[in-house]
Amino acid sequence: TKFSELGLSEPVLRALGSKGYSDPTPIQLQAIPALLQGRDLLGIAQTGTGKTAAFSLPSLHRLAADPKARSNAACRMLVLSPTRELAAQIADNMRGYAKYLSLSVQCIFGGVPAGKHARALAKGCDILVATPGRLLDLIDQRALTLRNVEIFVLDEADQMMDLGFIRPLKRIAALLPEKRQSLFFSATMPKAIEDLGKQFIRNPVKVEV
Ligand code: AMP
Repeated sequence: TKFSELGLSEPVLRALGSKGYSDPTPIQLQAIPALLQGRDLLGIAQTGTGKTAAFSLPSLHRLAADPKARSNAACRMLVLSPTRELAAQIADNMRGYAKYLSLSVQCIFGGVPAGKHARALAKGCDILVATPGRLLDLIDQRALTLRNVEIFVLDEADQMMDLGFIRPLKRIAALLPEKRQSLFFSATMPKAIEDLGKQFIRNPVKVEV
């Protein structure tokens, strides 16, 4: 199976072509059709399996298929990552996949003055990649609202738990609209992570690679 057989739109396929990717990885093959239908997803996958593209490509397709004007201090897709390095890498990848679409990607994480992030978010963006602590700081400063989030991705849930992000994650989850698509990824799925996942996702497609 090729990417061109999965139902992705032409600008997304063109971005893949310019990266030289033609064959989906196993997680991409399993996840993309379900995500294009709007299903929630529980993914058990490590970094290196192609999971960033697995969640990015169908999300970009769906956002572009339903264009909306940007709202101040808001985003349509939120990706949470445990570390600034991973967040920056996800944002870079998403910018590459979005290069033939008019969707903006912002990335926020701790260690950078929050004022800089607040200014970057003032006019809103389509996709926001963030670490949990900095995200909550900006929400508390009223520099960001989650009320327009349509797609929510929680990446590396087991690392989130190891780093003590459970309470921040629960606070964030409570601020998300009820009506949304949610994706939950972890390299391992012990009971505690599975229970955490149940608070975010509904009737998910389960993918394990
Ligand atoms: P990830 O697991 O998302 O960190 O991706 C691992 C690496 O594989 C990244 O450098 C991706 O750009 C690359 N990659 C993702 N999907 C594909 C694909 N279908 N074909 C070739 N390389 C890919």
